[in-house]
This record gives sequence, C-alpha cells and structure tokens, in this order.
Amino acid sequence: MWPAGYKAAFALTVDFDAEELWLAEDPANAHRPGVLSQARYGAEIAVPQLLDMLDRIGIPATFFVCGGDAERYPSILESIAERGHEIGHHGYSHRSPHLMERDEEAAELARGLAVLREFTDRVEGYRSPSWDLSPHTLGLLAEHGFRYSSNLMDAILPYAHAGHDLVEIPVHWSLDDAPHFWFDATSWDRTMRSAREVAELWNEETSAIHDTGGLVTLTVHPQLIGRPGRLLMLERFLTGVRDGNRSGSGSGSGSGSGDGGGSGEVWFATCREVAEAARVSGRTPVSPEARP
Ligand code: ZN
Repeated sequence: MWPAGYKAAFALTVDFDAEELWLAEDPANAHRPGVLSQARYGAEIAVPQLLDMLDRIGIPATFFVCGGDAERYPSILESIAERGHEIGHHGYSHRSPHLMERDEEAAELARGLAVLREFTDRVEGYRSPSWDLSPHTLGLLAEHGFRYSSNLMDAILPYAHAGHDLVEIPVHWSLDDAPHFWFDATSWDRTMRSAREVAELWNEETSAIHDTGGLVTLTVHPQLIGRPGRLLMLERFLTGVRDGNRSGSGSGSGSGSGDGGGSGEVWFATCREVAEAARVSGRTPVSPEARP
C-alpha cells in the first residue's frame, strides 16, 4: 500500500481544538476566562512550538481545525499552511454531527469549508469533533468534495468506504493523547498519566502496527500535548519512530549512525497522502487483509 521502499506508515494528526471545544462543552464557558485560557495556550503557545519541532525533525502533520477557531487565529492557520502541513475540517463548531439534523450538519460542513479555504486550496479530509459520525455524514462528505474521513476504529490500514468515493483513515483511543492527559476539572475523576507512561504505550502500539506494515495515526491536541514535558516526549517518540528506534525503552543505541534521514522504513505522510496511496492500491472496504 505504501510508496516503494516503505514498510509501514505514520500519520501525525493534530486536532487544533481551541475555544470551539470549550464552547461546545458549555456555551457558558464564553464567560469563563480561566477555562478559555487553556484554549489560548494551545493555539498561541503550543502550536508554534509544535510547528518549530516538526520543522526540526522533518515530519509533516495534518491539522484538523474548526472553522470558528480558524477565524479566531488566522495568523496561526497561515503559519500551519506556510510550513507545508495539511489543513483538514473539524466542524465549524466543535459539536458532534450525531447531535445535528441533516441540514444543520450540511451547513456546518459548508461554513467550515468556506473558512478553511481562505488558508488552503485543498480541504480534503474530515475529522468529526468527537470521532463520531451521523447516518448522513459520509454522504454529506462526498457531496461536499471531501476525499477522506479519519474517524473510525474498524481497521489498521486505510480502506475505501462502500458506496462513497471516500477513504477511511482509521484512528484509535490508544493512539490519542486525550484519554491519557485530559483532566476533567468539573469532576476530578480522571487521572493524568506521565509522559513516560504514554510514550511506552505509543511505542508498544506503534511497534506492533509497523511490524505488520500498518498505519499509525497518532492524534494529539495542542492544549494537552503542548505542556513542556509532553512536547519533549513527543519529539523523542517521533524521532525514535523516524530513526527506527522503537524499543520503547528510549535507550536504544547506534540509531544515529546514518545521515540523519532516518531508517527509511516508515513513511511519514499527511492524511491526504495516505488516502491517495490507499486509492492507488485499490483497497476494498473492511477487507479481511485490512485487519491484521
Ligand atoms: Zn477536537
């Protein structure tokens, strides 16, 4: 499925999630500067650092952005596009499509597209704010010219959706920072994991997926991964995957003997590139070989 010479693939996805996330949780958050300060940190502090890091290590990403957040932070969106990363659709607001009627969902898609197209010519991917779809979503995506969805958890390899000209780029909670780092300040019923524990989990999963030639779709959120210790972990994790040092212990030696170009076995790609590779390979919907 991957371009010649590559044994496996890795798509780094960044769910931008600024104010729209908190406003969707509770519209009253509009009047809570403390809550919203988390959004501002993600957009204004974490994203620029993430972009610098990705330049440094030479890895592309796909940023899924709500239209409302793109309107709030235009210079940051410009910076994402200028540095060659992909911009995908994450709703206009951060409300889940399964809570909307079909017309409302269509309007959200169109409104978000109009905003994002001010920053990029090609908006080809859709990631729902909740990784959840409505019964109408796939049809609406095809109608609006989308080329792929990145929301479902039913495969390791990308596949073609039956009945729609759309590729699915699968995701999973284990390869998401939110279940491990999200702190619920309302209930205090979640425990934060250390960056080391999360690195161990991601290395285990990545190593196993890459051994079967699969795709790792890692999802991070600037508000969460953008804390200093976690950003360091992410950089170490990504360079480890790039350089073929996937032991999980972080103590591998001898990996830096080449010219810095990495092991060459793992293809780091945007979701658009992954979807295109899947199309070229002609993969069929949830075929048995899509499930190692
Ligand atoms: Zn989100």
